[in-house]
Amino acid sequence: MLLSKGNFSTWFKHTGISNIEGDHVVISVPNTFTKAWLEKKYHAAIIKSLQRILEVPIRDVAYRVEAVAPEAAVAASAPQFSVLLKTQAAPVRETVNEVGLRTACTFQNFVVGKGCEMANAAAQAIANAIIAGKPSPYNPLFIYGGVGLGKTHLMQAVGNAVVAASHSRKVLYATVETFTNDFINAIRSGHGKEFKDKYRGVDLLLIDDVQFITGKEETQEEFFHTFNALHQFGKQVVMTSDRPPRAISGLAERLRTRFETGLVCDIQNPDLETRIAILRSKCAEKEYSLGEKGEEILHHIATVVQSNVRELEGALNKIIAHVELHPGSPTLETAKEVLVGLAAGGGRKSVTPRQLIDAVSTYFDLRVEDLLGKSREKKLAFPRQIIMFLMRDELRCSFPAIGEELGGRDHTTAMHACEKIRGALLNDEKLKQDIELIKDRVYSV
Ligand code: ADP
Ligand code: MG
Repeated sequence: MLLSKGNFSTWFKHTGISNIEGDHVVISVPNTFTKAWLEKKYHAAIIKSLQRILEVPIRDVAYRVEAVAPEAAVAASAPQFSVLLKTQAAPVRETVNEVGLRTACTFQNFVVGKGCEMANAAAQAIANAIIAGKPSPYNPLFIYGGVGLGKTHLMQAVGNAVVAASHSRKVLYATVETFTNDFINAIRSGHGKEFKDKYRGVDLLLIDDVQFITGKEETQEEFFHTFNALHQFGKQVVMTSDRPPRAISGLAERLRTRFETGLVCDIQNPDLETRIAILRSKCAEKEYSLGEKGEEILHHIATVVQSNVRELEGALNKIIAHVELHPGSPTLETAKEVLVGLAAGGGRKSVTPRQLIDAVSTYFDLRVEDLLGKSREKKLAFPRQIIMFLMRDELRCSFPAIGEELGGRDHTTAMHACEKIRGALLNDEKLKQDIELIKDRVYSV
């Protein structure tokens, strides 16, 4: 895109990158008028330019009106966009191959830490079996864990390995949403046979985010038959979900038992060492060096961002974007400044008691009114105790405040609940996972 100098300064003066998080970029603009123009006229070009600079797919760009100090803005922002616009002409790197798999999602690019050792080993074993034409050791493989921990990556790595080794093996990747839409369209348009051929004629079916199958009865039924057809002929199915099969509410019993017949394994948050290794690997992938202070900077990012790998990458991209715009080796101080918002929140956003309650209610598929109500039924009492525990542990609420928030209960009830859950956590792995998943949900929404 070529812009006259006049146009450039009209629309891009006082404009800059305000925030980058994963595939979501926020651009600050000085007023609503500029916002409307950028949205209407330059949106596509801006996305392309950002993609080119950041080397990641950008899905979403939002424009936010923000007040900026005039001198600072001209100095800092005009060059930002000249960089964007200059680099825009270069070709955008191909990231998705013909079967819909992201080419970057390979085993080679997947850093294995303690949290994902087992899932990784299982995924590799499956890929090797398919490539060798041997029976799969685990069918289906069901991988679950919080957002941004690499489930999709690992699942696509299986697909990419199989495709790379043999073009005759058929691989299909679909989210549950795509599966559902395809199914509905097939019924509407009378193309049921094509649908069946598509999903049942493969050697490897990858179904992402199966938790969204909840409540979709007809889709569940169709998936059940698809699954059986594949399984019966020894074709592999790999699924991911944000929670284990038994925690997917509204999942038909027969599907749940099918999901559990192979191997169910989880991915957990990477530890500090693994987070640093992941950052190193991302820099290597991008062929990007952060200069002399690189190691210290990576260490800082990994300390500040603890929640998940997607955010880790987002933070790294933020620093890379900053360096692109302010050439020269970044110092640790620069990195700290760029990530200052993240450090303040300990890498997590702030959450209200109500959001915690909502998350627990969604997770256990219970109504908020019931959770806050009088009934002491076990199916309510336990999740209620989890809420109290999380309010104490995560939000540092006082016991009386917790009691109050939960429908006017006594503070001793809250104390007892926190003690009980803390005790149970010492040896209850399932509870640990439940709580981790709830936290992921709360902090990621
Ligand atoms: P999920 O599907 O669990 O929400 P993704 O697979 O989409 O998470 O991972 C989010 C991002 O983090 C992706 O860009 C992915 O490549 C990267 N990622 C996650 N885990 C790892 C890992 N162990 N090594 C390298 N990259 C990872
Ligand atoms: Mg995913």
